[in-house]
Amino acid sequence: MPRPLLVIGSANRKKGQELANLFAVVGLEIKTLADFPQAIEVAEDGATFAENAARKAAQQARHLGHWVLADDSGLAVDALGGEPGVRSARFSGPGATDASNNRLLLERLAGLPLERRTARFVCRMALADPSGAIRAESEGACRGRIVFEPRGDGGFGYDPLFEIVEYRRTFGELHPAVKAVVSHRARAARQMLPRLLELAGPEGWATS
Ligand code: IMP
Repeated sequence: MPRPLLVIGSANRKKGQELANLFAVVGLEIKTLADFPQAIEVAEDGATFAENAARKAAQQARHLGHWVLADDSGLAVDALGGEPGVRSARFSGPGATDASNNRLLLERLAGLPLERRTARFVCRMALADPSGAIRAESEGACRGRIVFEPRGDGGFGYDPLFEIVEYRRTFGELHPAVKAVVSHRARAARQMLPRLLELAGPEGWATS
């Protein structure tokens, strides 16, 4: 019996790899969008992480005809009223890169002392069946603070600026195994796991 196939519906290669690693324990066959050249690009113009995650999972699942797990995630900075939030990937405008987003974030926080630089990463996940119906959702958050200059070259996005206070290290400096336990994505994945295991049994995916 072939193992049930789960497609990780993220266009961001590093994020897709983190998700694939987080779900590697469940005994499914896991592929990412890198394995599907015919994958579509889903517009992420919803007002919330939940809306965007559901859209990405549902549209890609219907298009590919497979079960798809998607996440929508971002950084919410307290001093910026929760910004950049759902706009995290394109914070610095068209053509935004991780470097330009990080630069803008430092500019916007210029002059603020460490205790006022608190932030949290948020991750919302959705699992869709091949008809595009959402079958499970989960959410995770991870608190930290924005340091004054990038540190470390691990991870992606805002990782070099996001310090986990207990470790006094940014996600860019910490070993990926630590991020795989404490991150917003790891927490959302742990919440998703029991539901995923109910839906994908040894006989394959549940039909209803
Ligand atoms: P999404 O692909 O629309 O979910 O965009 C997520 C964006 O949020 C990324 O491009 C990053 O800028 C930021 N982000 C989300 N998760 C992380 C993370 O784990 N580390 C660093 N940045 C993240």
